[in-house]
Amino acid sequence: MIRTVQLTKSFGERTLWRDVDLEVSTGKMLALVGPSGSGKTTLLNCLGLLEQPSGGDILHDGKRLTRLGAGGRRRFRRAHLGYLFQNYALMENATIKQNLDVAGRDQQLQSRALERVGLAGREREKVHRMSGGEQQRIALARLMVKKPSLVLADEPTGALDEDNGRMVIDTLRQMADEGCAVVVATHNDDVRDACDEVFDVHTQRLAVVG
Ligand code: ATP
Repeated sequence: MIRTVQLTKSFGERTLWRDVDLEVSTGKMLALVGPSGSGKTTLLNCLGLLEQPSGGDILHDGKRLTRLGAGGRRRFRRAHLGYLFQNYALMENATIKQNLDVAGRDQQLQSRALERVGLAGREREKVHRMSGGEQQRIALARLMVKKPSLVLADEPTGALDEDNGRMVIDTLRQMADEGCAVVVATHNDDVRDACDEVFDVHTQRLAVVG
């Protein structure tokens, strides 16, 4: 479970959000919404320990992440975090399989993940030869192989057609149901509807979906 306590982020004079108290338990999916520039990505980056908040705390299973040094932050990310960001962060000159190996070497899990994203049998292909949508699906498969306890996704359906967007939504939902905590920044209503709660970063209002 990840929890923020009075989390605040400012850039100079400008405060993006102040005193944010959020809680995402395992099995739950939280949508971050709000207008462009309201600070959704910045909040995800803070949760992923890629950016320092200006104030407040982030706790993971009771452990205060905001106190960790650079090494501790790196270890936490490696052990617990999965990202689905728009630039995919794949190793482009490597094969699909080599990209999955970084997340975990369980062959059965790898095969199941590739089947799920419609890329079964293409393990030996180089990532840089694949389309944007295919690369997004590799990133999704890698996430499924890693099975992190916390998934952070930034506009994961942004560049995808309807079918692939649906697959991403269903997969994130399934990962939550299997025990991940999922936080997803989005402008997409279908993603929102798949979540348990929605936090508007601009108004700082939290709503239950459904
Ligand atoms: P979008 O929906 O367009 O992706 P967002 O809600 O994710 O937007 P962020 O990307 O988090 O918004 O950016 C929030 C604001 O913070 C923006 O105005 C951005 O310019 C500003 N910002 C982000 N990083 C920095 C930085 N390092 N220094 C100064 N301002 C920054």
